[in-house]
Amino acid sequence: MRGLTVGVAGGGIGGLSAALSLLAAGFDVHVYERAQALGEVGAGVQISPNASRILHRLGLAGELARTGVKPLALHQRRWDDGRTLLRTPLGEPLEARFGFPHYQAHRADVLAALAAAIPAGRIHLGRRLTGFTDHGDGVRLDFAEGGPAEVDVLVGADGIHSDVRELLFGPERPRFTGCVAYRGLIPAERLRGLGIEVTAQVFMGPGRHFVNYYVSGGRLMNFVAIVEQDSWTRESWTDHGEVADALKAFDGWHPQVHGMLNAVDETFVWALFDRPPLPRWSRGRVTLLGDACHAMLPFMAQGAAQAIEDGATLAASLAANPGDPAEALVGYERLRLPRATRMQALSSENKTRFHLHDGPEQEARDEAMAMGATDWSYDVVAWIYDHDAAGPLPDGETTG
Ligand code: FAD
Repeated sequence: MRGLTVGVAGGGIGGLSAALSLLAAGFDVHVYERAQALGEVGAGVQISPNASRILHRLGLAGELARTGVKPLALHQRRWDDGRTLLRTPLGEPLEARFGFPHYQAHRADVLAALAAAIPAGRIHLGRRLTGFTDHGDGVRLDFAEGGPAEVDVLVGADGIHSDVRELLFGPERPRFTGCVAYRGLIPAERLRGLGIEVTAQVFMGPGRHFVNYYVSGGRLMNFVAIVEQDSWTRESWTDHGEVADALKAFDGWHPQVHGMLNAVDETFVWALFDRPPLPRWSRGRVTLLGDACHAMLPFMAQGAAQAIEDGATLAASLAANPGDPAEALVGYERLRLPRATRMQALSSENKTRFHLHDGPEQEARDEAMAMGATDWSYDVVAWIYDHDAAGPLPDGETTG
């Protein structure tokens, strides 16, 4: 052990992967999760090479290969006739170019793999952090239930509604992004007649888009159907969604889209919120990671990947300067904040780009995509996928 005890508030993908990175760096780590059991929403997550590079190092390659799916390509298509706008190989060519695979996975599988890799006694359930006191040479943690804890560093990995963020920087409401997402999982055998390839598909159309990919070793199809909406009036941020509403929203879209929506038993509808970038993530011996400090629209499929990167950089920064944790957190933030902020901005821009109505702007977008000049062509995404969050920045690479 390097002597420092790190408390992580939140046992989501961000918190658990940070805990593993910190444990691998030799720190004494404890995760405090408010729920009585670890859990994730019943949906998929894409894990790009910048994140799989870290998860492989942490020993998860076998589990990801066993439960995940390696897609052949990212296939971006037109909403009505399904015409290809851009087809970017994932699979072997991507692995050869970036050194690590792209996975499509069920969130519960990823969370379970992370949790299984953390030694017993380090994840504390039913422990909602309600307050902390940074007294300069350590941090006292207070919980809704159970006694306090003393740590050297506190990491708030407690998601978009982060209590740690509010305790650090005051209250601030997340912004409704003007988008809702219907999400669902469909047994793959129900879709056989539709000829859906093992790709990540994005159908783009006016005011909405539809994403689908296989998860769980190919047994389930995951979809996310995004629809622009002026406001969100329900009390809850997530709710049971009516399949009929989703079908209506995608009236006239490609038969595969309809086929999937017709085959699903139930959908959930999510209001998508984000937050403006923070000028700082840390104060003293307390910092933030993941959605707690850079919640973003999912239109780069990078929210969880950035949280995984945060954990790797945090561990490397503390390992480089364990004698001065507050200074190490400043270094962590300096490396991470510009990159995450850039990802937040690109995610928002994709809302406009994906949802263009047919017309001159859409034609210009399609032309640029056909030339491989935008979106996910390898050269364009190299700054995302080549990044090694645990290592020094390669020559010439900037985070901003
Ligand atoms: P969370 O997963 O929200 O975890 C926070 C945890 O903290 C929870 O377990 C919570 O119970 C706990 N907690 C909260 N408060 C406290 C407290 N006070 N004390 C203790 N515990 C507490 N990202 C990708 O990389 N790829 C994708 O393909 C992708 N697709 C997406 C699709 C959709 C539709 C959406 C909405 C998001 C998508 N994302 C994707 C983003 C990704 O889901 C999130 O960025 C990621 O899950 C955030 O992880 P986190 O650990 O920071 O937060």
